[in-house]
Amino acid sequence: MSDALLARLDKITDPASGKGLVDAARLDGAVIDKGVATIVLKANADEDSATLKAAIESAALELNDVERVRVITTIQRSPGAPTKADAPRQAAADSPRPAKRIIAVAAGKGGVGKSTVAANLAAALAKQGLRVAILDADIYGPSIPRLFGLRDIKGLKKTDKGIKPAESHGVRIVSMGFLTKPDQPVVWRGPMVQGAIQQFLNEADWGDPDVLFIDMPPGTGDAQLAIAQTVAIDGAVIACTPQDLALDDARKAMGMFEKTHTPILGLIENMSVFLCPHCGEPSDIFGHGGARAEAEAMGVPFLGEIPLTIELRERSDSGHPVAFGDGPVADAFARAADAMLASADEARKPAPEIAFSS
Ligand code: ADP
Repeated sequence: MSDALLARLDKITDPASGKGLVDAARLDGAVIDKGVATIVLKANADEDSATLKAAIESAALELNDVERVRVITTIQRSPGAPTKADAPRQAAADSPRPAKRIIAVAAGKGGVGKSTVAANLAAALAKQGLRVAILDADIYGPSIPRLFGLRDIKGLKKTDKGIKPAESHGVRIVSMGFLTKPDQPVVWRGPMVQGAIQQFLNEADWGDPDVLFIDMPPGTGDAQLAIAQTVAIDGAVIACTPQDLALDDARKAMGMFEKTHTPILGLIENMSVFLCPHCGEPSDIFGHGGARAEAEAMGVPFLGEIPLTIELRERSDSGHPVAFGDGPVADAFARAADAMLASADEARKPAPEIAFSS
């Protein structure tokens, strides 16, 4: 959000309440990026929105750094009135849900710490007393077994309640890694990925957790599609590092979810600053703040920054996610997990119908 823009827009009177537009909570977004101001206005059926839009446009153009203005109006639909765009999600919504909330964690490429983020968001919620489970669908590099000290598990049993997950720190876990040998990567074809994900979602004995995380494989559309066709998920968290290239990949990952109309719950910047293990002094190894700026530009929530620390890597390798404990990194994950749940609550509200002004 741009403060200067907000201050300018608040001088415009909301016809319904007589307050300023910001004060009257009529704006869902107001950002300036490369000379373009994008303003999201909650439309009100009873008013002349053209007059209001014109007032917004001329107010924004008064700012020196604004060359062009885009006003997006959102119309609140009543619940239970889906748009055409909701069709794939609507079909999945009719299937039984294996958890109260289902959240995918994704990244555009491997190595940005996606699994570390998934494991620690799960740990942060488990620490708060929530019941948490993880489906590790990352066929190319399943690291959840290592992160939870379950590397010795080979194969999964079936009971009369379904496929029996492994369990660590109270978290029920099903991983593609339980089915493949570490040094012999199986060549998965798209339909096999889809089949395995659908089977695990539908047939594992998840125990009705509060949150089921899905650790997504990087960079493939198959898994996103399989999930969208199987269950209505609450949304996706995108992990990235501060570098520009990683952000390009994050954009691609978001694009794949957008194709299946899956809400983006937010971006998390991992390896944001290096915390020196000796003095605690932070240093920006990869630069920092890129993901926050990107989230703002794309209009998605920014969930937080996770520092690069030796403790985090060591605790990950020894199978005890750092967020089960205390300290600055555990706190960073706890804040990100809270922001993620708040974003998931927001995503459950009826989706606005978007109309672009010319
Ligand atoms: P991905 O799932 O994106 O492939 P991983 O979560 O497996 O990545 O992380 C890759 C490596 O980086 C692992 O060795 C992990 O312990 C390490 N790592 C990830 N995030 C951090 C961090 N914030 N600080 C230190 N090491 C990290």
